[in-house]
Amino acid sequence: MDALAGLHPREVVERVALSLGCSPTSAQVAAHLDQHDQLRHLREKFLVPKTATLPPSDLSLVDGQDECIYLVGNSLGLQPRTARRYLEEELDKWGQTGVHGHTEGSRPWAWAENNIEHLMAKVVGAKAEEVALMNGLTVNLHLLMLSFYKPTPTRHKILLENKAFPSDHYAVESQIRLRGFDPEHSMLLVSPREGEETLRTEDIVEVLEREGDSIAVVMFSGVQYYTGQLFDMAAITQAGHRKGCFVGFDCAHAAGNVELKLHDWGVDFACWCSYKYINSGAGGLAGAFVHENHKHTIKPALCGWWGHNLKTRFQMDNVLDLQPGVSGFRLSNQPILLVCPLQASLEIFDLTSMAALRRKSVLLTGYLEYLIQHYYTQDPANPHKPHVSIITPADPEQRGCQLSLCFSVPIRKVFQELERRGVACDMREPSVLRVAPVPLYNSFRDVHRFVETLTAALRSTSQ
Ligand SMILES: *Cc1c(COP(=O)(O)O)cnc(C)c1O
Repeated sequence: MDALAGLHPREVVERVALSLGCSPTSAQVAAHLDQHDQLRHLREKFLVPKTATLPPSDLSLVDGQDECIYLVGNSLGLQPRTARRYLEEELDKWGQTGVHGHTEGSRPWAWAENNIEHLMAKVVGAKAEEVALMNGLTVNLHLLMLSFYKPTPTRHKILLENKAFPSDHYAVESQIRLRGFDPEHSMLLVSPREGEETLRTEDIVEVLEREGDSIAVVMFSGVQYYTGQLFDMAAITQAGHRKGCFVGFDCAHAAGNVELKLHDWGVDFACWCSYKYINSGAGGLAGAFVHENHKHTIKPALCGWWGHNLKTRFQMDNVLDLQPGVSGFRLSNQPILLVCPLQASLEIFDLTSMAALRRKSVLLTGYLEYLIQHYYTQDPANPHKPHVSIITPADPEQRGCQLSLCFSVPIRKVFQELERRGVACDMREPSVLRVAPVPLYNSFRDVHRFVETLTAALRSTSQ
């Protein structure tokens, strides 16, 4: 397989098929790619639901003992097998030692999150002291904006995507109002060009050049949740800085999915959740990043005792000794029951690297793209045959693992038929299916099974 490194996924698939003497769409290709996948052992670290336990699956259509085709790690990552043990350890410690659990055991509650921040920092390309694990994503976005968004009459705008995730949109809107400005004038939304689905970096940079003097904060996502577009965070950061703006990213769909270099890119602040690609379970502990450049200049607007220097935190003298940087943004003591599953997942990430995961991801998603295009490109000779277009950029540099598929037929029925056949993916009406093969635990066989199942689902909906 090393001989295939650097090739476009399409070429890899075709060369493998040639060497096996089979069609590129044969399941043999998937089996071969799995056999040579150096990360395939990581799947065993997770609980993959069986089709029998996946609610809408119809056991007359599937073998209930088979693992389901889980392609929705962009929404909720799978459970790491060690999560349960870590939780039980803390429940036992609580039961057996009560309050002593704060300072005893391998995971003292009073500073448990500090023990895993270096692991999270590796995943997002930051220094450990630039990362805090706390709260939920939207909460962290607000806490960071309170410090980074300080509008003035001449510089009061926030630049974001037109179709940002609703929570981000509302957060920005309410921050603008909180400061006494009007979202109508202070919220600057960038849209794709007419007839295009995704944003061009040059257009984002152009807006910054044109309007940058009035923009206080640039607040983009790293990977767009709907289209799967990976933004050029380095270029956007540079363009924002040239105009004196702060640049922050919501990395909900980027963290654990693509290689991030938040520190090297000079990103001012970032936040992300940990239950999507980072597999910490619904509502898991979120992340926040503040660049070390701001360590002594950007202060939290709201303070709590957890922002106080750990060494003297419990002396309770009511003189705040604020930790520098993002650590000072902590408010409350951490929920240990959320630290446990996050630790379990981050330890799996630590068995490999984002660079290695990304290499697999490019091939895995490229394989999905290849099969979709092979079967579902619009056929001018047969215009009534259902076809699928991919709204996610074709360039692997501009996407993560997710492909957003747009169907020529209404999506709801197709989605239901997929679910009945043991596929877990995500639907957005009227016509988009989001499919995310995750390199940590998805296999090439998953992708092959998905496309076969899609064929069966489409056949049954057209009857
Ligand atoms: C998933 C997601 C959220 C969810 O916010 P929570 O505060 O974790 O509920 C917000 N923004 C983006 C961009 C997301 O992808």
